[in-house]
Amino acid sequence: MKAQVKSSESLLHGGSTPTRAEITKSLNDGLFELIGEHRHEQVSLWHEPETGYRGVVAIHNTTLGPALGGTRMWPYENDLEALIDVLRLSRGMTYKAAVAGLNLGGGKSVIVGDPNSKNREAIFRAHGRHVDSMCGRYITAEDVGTSPSDMEFVSRETKYVVGLAGRSGDPSPVTALGVYRGMQACAREVWGSDSLSGKTVTVQGVGHVGYHVCKHMHEEGARLVVSDIDDAKVKTVVQEFGATAVPADDIYAVDADIFAPCALGAVINDDTLKVLKVDIVAGAANNQLEEERHGDVLHEKGVLYAPDYAINAGGLINVNAEVEGWDLERSHKKAAEIYDTILKVIQIAKDKSIPTYRAADLLAEDRIAEAVTRKKT
Ligand code: NAD
Repeated sequence: MKAQVKSSESLLHGGSTPTRAEITKSLNDGLFELIGEHRHEQVSLWHEPETGYRGVVAIHNTTLGPALGGTRMWPYENDLEALIDVLRLSRGMTYKAAVAGLNLGGGKSVIVGDPNSKNREAIFRAHGRHVDSMCGRYITAEDVGTSPSDMEFVSRETKYVVGLAGRSGDPSPVTALGVYRGMQACAREVWGSDSLSGKTVTVQGVGHVGYHVCKHMHEEGARLVVSDIDDAKVKTVVQEFGATAVPADDIYAVDADIFAPCALGAVINDDTLKVLKVDIVAGAANNQLEEERHGDVLHEKGVLYAPDYAINAGGLINVNAEVEGWDLERSHKKAAEIYDTILKVIQIAKDKSIPTYRAADLLAEDRIAEAVTRKKT
């Protein structure tokens, strides 16, 4: 039995795409083993042959509230790979919402298909019917391979969708505010002051979030070194914020105080750890650690890592405003509280002598456990 549990656990935790052999082995061990491994509450598969829609909704945990998480559309090699992905992503949403102090649970959905498919209305209306069948236990939003206009189609079939055009709007400024506040908390821990004035901050990726992170840093009086594969975006931050540009591959080795990954996942890995020369890693990108052990290496090297899902929760806070009926000011206030969250994570890490990525997990698990206890009494 133990070996079975381990095999599914590694699939759900792993940063890399599981192989067909791994997935098959895991399913041979038992579908319910896989779903039960991290106590997913519900997984729903929905197929409409007439539209070509094949979707999976996974609800991981609704202790704190309805499960909220985006819809990913991806040409998965097989349906099982899609299942593994949705289980892993939905669990991540539970942790993100719990750490952010939101009254939301964790869920996610995937649509197996070409993200450039032209058949969008039929597919996303089918997805809307699927989401509606969960009766509000799951609320969806856009994600990789989907857009606000796809969510408009979803909204014709269900009210359980957020992130529609003209509602909470672009989440990036709120996400960047949270990243900025998280950096200030890290600065307090490392240098004894929130101030980032005079610090050198490297920002990888100056797209939607990275641009606004640069703006905050510039206003703080920090020195910016940036990289992006899009030259036009680099030019904008060089002109507006006096940033220094470096080629994409050179950003890791820049001698700086803070590294802010705002582009890609898995950027903290064996290769980059050899050259990183910073005191703090704090940025918006999802899944920054290629594997959990890379978070252990940061810890051992004395580099303070602001766990990605804790510091980049501003995007979730932004769409949560639609669920709660918050105005932008309220969302900003909540995103600014990421400062306190990161300080709490750091304190837990120090008290327990564990890496911060693990401390963030404990903070989330404690909040859910407390809610379970409250419900029982
Ligand atoms: P974006 O696509 O607007 O920006 C990403 C930028 O990274 C682009 O300008 C792209 O050209 C650049 N880039 C790609 N590969 C690169 C490379 N190798 N080196 C340097 N730059 C590279 O995306 P975004 O909305 O700004 O999100 C950035 C990251 O933050 C993503 O990982 C995203 O998942 C995460 N995130 C975003 C939000 C949000 O509110 N948008 C919320 C939470 C997490």
